[in-house]
Amino acid sequence: MKPSDYLFDHHKNMIEDLETLVTMETPSGSKILLDRCVKYLEDYFRDNLTCTVNVIDNMNAGNNLLIRFNEESTMKPILILSHYDTVFPEGTLKKIPFSVSEDGEMARGPGIFDMKAGIIQGVWALKALEKHGKMKRPVIFLVTSDEEIGSGSSRELIEGMAKEAEAVLVLEPSLNGNLKTERKGVGEIDITITGKASHAGLDPSKGASAINEAARMIQFLQALNNPDAETTVNVGTIRGGTARNVIPGEAFMQVDFRIVEEDEGRRIMKEARLFRPKDSRVRLEISGGVNRPPMRKTDATGRLFELAKRIGREFGRELRETSAGGGSDGNFCAALGVPVLDGLGAVGDGAHSEQEVLDVNEMPVRAAILERLLEEI
Ligand SMILES: [Zn+2]
Repeated sequence: MKPSDYLFDHHKNMIEDLETLVTMETPSGSKILLDRCVKYLEDYFRDNLTCTVNVIDNMNAGNNLLIRFNEESTMKPILILSHYDTVFPEGTLKKIPFSVSEDGEMARGPGIFDMKAGIIQGVWALKALEKHGKMKRPVIFLVTSDEEIGSGSSRELIEGMAKEAEAVLVLEPSLNGNLKTERKGVGEIDITITGKASHAGLDPSKGASAINEAARMIQFLQALNNPDAETTVNVGTIRGGTARNVIPGEAFMQVDFRIVEEDEGRRIMKEARLFRPKDSRVRLEISGGVNRPPMRKTDATGRLFELAKRIGREFGRELRETSAGGGSDGNFCAALGVPVLDGLGAVGDGAHSEQEVLDVNEMPVRAAILERLLEEI
């Protein structure tokens, strides 16, 4: 079978849409910028597709966009997940303006790979599906505002939609085009250590060093790494103290952990709470836990991947499956028992870095694969 002519014929239009979207900066923290982008997407969907568009107001982050297609169908819907926030601060566009290389193969711009090209590919896959009259199931397209900061304000919405879904397709980017059927769970711990400050020269015995206990605790936490279970623990930040000649009264640490097994999350939290300072005057405050549960591969996920693999071959692509150390909103859905296929978005490299780059020629191919998936599931 030939790749979808409609999508290849509109490759140029896809790139134009992508330029518009990338040129609107959307750092996770800026509600004004985020809402401006949502307004653009809202109008775009209304003007170009047959769908119901709902803007879900969000007090604490950018608004979320919920688009429904083919609502008349009584079949279980397919949920498509995407996010329009990026890790890049406002002003990055000046440094890395939207650009396509001279040979037309690579494009750059803040968030182009993670995951604005994925959104555009999704939009065009739906356009093609509509054009070809092949939409069988209802499709729910979610475009959320806070994936890069843990999805605190969109998690409930995502889980609510996923519960009803036959399958969840996630438009996160992909290196080499590989699809993700497993992701590690992600946990966060915040630690505040409170000792007692005193003069380091005049009154050292009156002080209780928070930094000294922090140093001990770092060793304790790093020892919770468990390669056999693929659990990783990382004390990522530490700060504390006020001056060279003061016994430090306070210290703070931020810890990240990644797990394959749910039990490991409980073990890490339990053990972290078992740490006891040597100096009884020092107090600890520990908060956090597992934020995104691990995304496990199930038989249903396996069948979904096999289908994608078969479709990939229609377009001369050999899709492989990988597991990822990073989490996504797919983790929330997989924990509900719904089959999730992730990494269906843009092909490129350098996510979250200024070297981020998009493979332009893969855009219509990826859109075509998505279109066929929506048709076949
Ligand atoms: Zn992403």
